[in-house]
Amino acid sequence: MTRRLLPLLVLAVLLGSTAALRRFEDRVLTSQQRAPRWYKGNTHTHTINSDGDSHPDDVVKWYRSHGYQFVMLTDHNVLTSVEGLNALHGLDARFLVIRGEEVTDRFGTKPLHINALDPSRLISAQGGSSAVDVVQRNVHAIRAADGIPHVNHPSFGWALSAEELAQVRDLKLFEIFNGHPQVNNEGGGGVPSLEAMWDQILSRGVLLYGLAVDDAHHFKRHDDRTASRPGKGWVYVRADTLAPRAIVEALERGDFYSSTGVELNDYAVTDSTMTLTVRETVWSKYRIQFIGRNGALLQESLESPATYRFRGDEGYVRARVLESNGERAWTQPVMVAAAPR
Ligand SMILES: [Zn+2]
Ligand SMILES: [Zn+2]
Repeated sequence: MTRRLLPLLVLAVLLGSTAALRRFEDRVLTSQQRAPRWYKGNTHTHTINSDGDSHPDDVVKWYRSHGYQFVMLTDHNVLTSVEGLNALHGLDARFLVIRGEEVTDRFGTKPLHINALDPSRLISAQGGSSAVDVVQRNVHAIRAADGIPHVNHPSFGWALSAEELAQVRDLKLFEIFNGHPQVNNEGGGGVPSLEAMWDQILSRGVLLYGLAVDDAHHFKRHDDRTASRPGKGWVYVRADTLAPRAIVEALERGDFYSSTGVELNDYAVTDSTMTLTVRETVWSKYRIQFIGRNGALLQESLESPATYRFRGDEGYVRARVLESNGERAWTQPVMVAAAPR
């Protein structure tokens, strides 16, 4: 018991019964012992076990030596073993390799790739009768193997529309930024950007969380603009411990933010507000934007921290930070329903 908590405990004794005190003590101690931390990681990476150019050992070394706390190895239709890698490079609360697979399927000419995070076994591509059916069947197969599914690069091969993605059930995660140079994050030719697709999906009342990932394949082709290099997009996950289930379950409940370079010192949501504090660099300026239904700009703040106060009719609220050199961060949407009168 710290000295700081003692006056509060005395207050609790004065105000309530012994049982109330015990509940209070439990709550304080639990929050002290298990204070969540932010862990930086990448959920989409390839090695020579599929079409990457580097051995798993070198891939893991790259992420560990570049300030990440976890990486998921997601080879195409291969479950790369992580036990030996964790024995070599894992370190309690410092670094973790998490098992994964990019379940690689298609419908006609459309590539349909769904990551399985921390599955218990290899999942084979399931096929199906439409693009939505293929994704749905693979999502269910991933769930059946205790994995967490995330739909990858919807506009690679112009494979999936917002309308199609919104029909998939038992799905919480999809990529809004992928670092591969051929995945069309920004849309084009009448197809909206992945971020605009996200707003379309959320505006239908379907809650999906948006991931930024590397989809790194090439750790050696430094001067090749067609290479898919690491360090492009990542997530910061808020979890109690650096353990596979703690990380993937935090992702699944939206307790993370995505980034291509902007970092946050803090992010907090209460019943009435959403507040962001940007970790500013001296050479940059920032715009913090709060976005609601149909991608509407609800509020823009030029100062950090920035607080948005919920009105109740926004449908959802999410925040995006725009940095003056093009870097971004995206927080996850919070569904806002008007209180019944
Ligand atoms: Zn892919
Ligand atoms: Zn990939």
